[in-house]
Order: sequence, then structure tokens, then C-alpha cells
Amino acid sequence: MNFDLNVSERKEIWNFLLEELENYYAHTHERQVAPELNTQGIRKHAQKYSFEQVVPSIQALQHVLEGLEQYAVHTPHPSYFGLFNPRANFPSILADLISATYNPQMAAWSHSPFAAEVETYLLQEFGRRFGFPQDSIDGVFTSGGAEANLTALISALNQQFPDYAQTGLRGLAGQPLLYCTTETHHSIVKAARTTGLGMAAVRSIPVNQQQQMRMDKLEEQLIKDTAEGHQPFLLVVTAGATGTGAIDDLPRAANLARKYNLWLHVDAAYGGAAVLEPGLAPLLSGIEAADSITFDAHKWLSVPMAAGMFLTRHRHILDRSFRTLADYMPKEAGQLEIVDPFTHSLQWSRRFIGLKVYLSLLFFGWEGYSQVIRHQTEMGNLLKKQLKNSGWKLYNYTDFPIACFTDPAYEKNADFAAEINRQVVQSGKAWISIYQTGEVQALRACITNYATTEKEVTDLVELLNQCRKNWQK
Ligand SMILES: *Cc1c(COP(=O)(O)O)cnc(C)c1O
Repeated sequence: MNFDLNVSERKEIWNFLLEELENYYAHTHERQVAPELNTQGIRKHAQKYSFEQVVPSIQALQHVLEGLEQYAVHTPHPSYFGLFNPRANFPSILADLISATYNPQMAAWSHSPFAAEVETYLLQEFGRRFGFPQDSIDGVFTSGGAEANLTALISALNQQFPDYAQTGLRGLAGQPLLYCTTETHHSIVKAARTTGLGMAAVRSIPVNQQQQMRMDKLEEQLIKDTAEGHQPFLLVVTAGATGTGAIDDLPRAANLARKYNLWLHVDAAYGGAAVLEPGLAPLLSGIEAADSITFDAHKWLSVPMAAGMFLTRHRHILDRSFRTLADYMPKEAGQLEIVDPFTHSLQWSRRFIGLKVYLSLLFFGWEGYSQVIRHQTEMGNLLKKQLKNSGWKLYNYTDFPIACFTDPAYEKNADFAAEINRQVVQSGKAWISIYQTGEVQALRACITNYATTEKEVTDLVELLNQCRKNWQK
């Protein structure tokens, strides 16, 4: 079987595909943002071919593109006001293509030394921007925030309980406890479950009116738990909560972490981008005291999934957490001052995740990111202003471009937000979601796309106003 195909076939296919992709990329805004969810039809399309016979190449591609055209929420659409899923910038798309073609193996340094050094360089640069001391920064690219948070939990266990790697949780004298809030991303709870800590190890601290961790409640809980002989070991705070964009009080969190000897993890999967925009960076002040940080490039850095980062100020913790001996792995690294990526990560064989960020930075520089982040923030401010002017009320308090809102006349009626959301999504003109803020079922709209302009924002507010009118009839 000729898996390569031949040169002329490839040329024809490249040309066809590039034209189709360019067409999608240039005309994304002309699409309906969301498809009709006809499960039967979608499944039928997916199962159209049996693989008993091959499909001609162009036809196969057409089939795939048609499926993605018709049956997907178009997250790269400028009227997708959704869940931190960005439009991928152009060089980052090239990066994925390059990565797939060269297929560098990121387990052993000696297999892909350039790729490994690019990632190390980027992690150092981001660590420095978050304020970590230059000579102690370490980190690893991950599949996303969930893996980075799991990495944080494992690192914290290894740091706080030096025998953990050897004896496991059963070797611990007391009940280990980690602290987060009701607004913490659920990947932390998932990590607690998958590490064997279980839900019993998770203390969920209530939030205040601004959706931030109640630090007084946290301290109360810490005092109580310590008195009962438990072993608090990890404090997880969020810089840019997934629902509301709230940033926990980082300096107070750092104080309490120090006082009670907790590993401080800041989940900045989304909000970490603020360090690249001088106008927003002060919001993250205090993050430099973190023991570790989660930061997703596939959110506000506008690169395709899957690209996350775990950063730490503890140079040896990843090594201590993940190094295992494998006789069959290349040993060149043994004599060199380098790190084999597989000894620092949950993943083993993995793709060159950092290339998307590297190529974006080569094309646009830090200044390019700063501009884009500022633009999105401005569009968020415009959205909030227009919503208020139209009688909608905001139920979140963030400087990030996220609005949780509803009409205050219906704030006690959960059906209202659900119905408005349904109408907006069904119109195909925009995509928003619902989020429960305190007692209020709110609508949620977030600027996730650098190509979103004043026009899309204004159109969304008009659409919302129209849907509200329909409800009132
Ligand atoms: C998105 C998000 C995560 C999970 O990240 P993935 O990249 O989806 O794995 C974790 N924490 C926060 C705050 C997030 O917004």
C-alpha cells in the first residue's frame, strides 16, 4: 500500500485542501455559528462508509469537511461568544501542519533536541513573565489545563509528602486535604479523584459576592482541619474563573499558603494571558508567589487545541514526580545538561505542542499578543456597556471580556435565561451560554476571538434585545 501516495496525487490533494481551508478561514463569519443537533443525521454522516472499500481521496476529504461544516459549533466564528475556545491565528495552524509532517518525538531530548529546546525556552520566558525567579523556573507543555492541574496536584503531593512516590497515599499518616472553591474548574476535582485522593480530600470553600474565595472561611477551615489532625497540603486559587472571570485574592492566598505550609497553585488557564498586556497585568499581581501555575495557550493565546502549560518555581519537583527508569529509552541525555521531556510529564510520546506558541511569537512578538488581548478586552468593555444601556444587568465583576447578565426583571425566573439562550443559539447568528451566578441563572457571553469587532458585539446585543421582546409577548 502506498501510504505516501505519489507526487502528482499529493499536489492535487494539497491544492484542493488548501483552497477549502482558506475558504473556511476567510469566510468563517458567513457561517451559521451553531448547527442543528440532529443526532441521527450526524451519526449517519459519520458512519457513511464501512471501510470495506476505499473512498476516492477528494471525496473522502469532502466528506470530512462537510461533516465539520455542518455539524459543529464554529468556534472560530467572530460571533462565537463562548467558552474560551479561540479562533486559531494563522501561524499556529501552520505549526500544527509542520508538527504533523515532521512528527518530532517529544519523549526523549535526543530525538528532537531543537523542539525540546524551543519548549524549554518558551517555558522559561513565560515563567519569567509570571514573575518566577529566573534560575528556578521549570515547566512542561501539556495537553491543556486539565493535565496541567493534575500535574500541579501530583507535584504538590510529592513536595509536601516526600514519601508519596514510594508509599502512595496509603503511606500518609493523616487525611491529605486540598482547598478550592465552588468556582474552581472541575478538572481539580477530577484530578483528586484520579490520583486516589478522592472527594473526601477536597474542601470547597464558599465564594463572596464577587465570586472570589472567602479567605476568612478558608482560614477557619484550615484551623479546624489542622486541629483535627488532618494534613492540608494544597491551595488552588483561580485567576480568571471559567464562568465569571473572577480572580481570587492572590496576595492573601499567598499569605495563607505560607502560614499553613500549603503548595499554592494558581489556575490561570484563561486569565494568565493578562501578564502579556501591561494594562491588565496588575490584576495578576501576587501570582509570582505561586508554587505552580496552569496556563493554556489554546485559550487566550489563540492557538489550536491542545496546548497548555504547567509552570513551577521548584526546579526539581517535576523530576521528582515523574522520572522513571526505562531501559529502552535513548540514553544520550545522561551525559548532557538537558532534560528528557518524558521524565517531567504525565505524557510520554507526545507532539511538539510548543511550536504553535513559538511560531505565533515569531510572527507577531509579545507586542502582537499585547495588542490582541487589549482589543478583546475593549470589545468586552463595549459589550458590557451596551448590555447595561439596553437594561441588562451584569452579575459578574471582572475586567476580563466576560459578561454574565440577565434582565433584572426576570432574575428569579430560570426559564428566562434558558429560553433567551435557546433562541440566540438557534438563530445561528451567535453562540452564548448560560451560567449560574449565585442565585441567578445568567446568560454568559465572552469575547474569545481576536476577529470579533464592534459589529459583532452590537449585533449580539440587538439579537438579545429582540429575543427579550419575543419573551415579553
Ligand atoms: C479551561 C479551564 C481548565 C481546563 O483546561 P483544558 O485546557 O480544557 O483542559 C482549567 N481551569 C480553568 C480555569 C479553565 O478555564
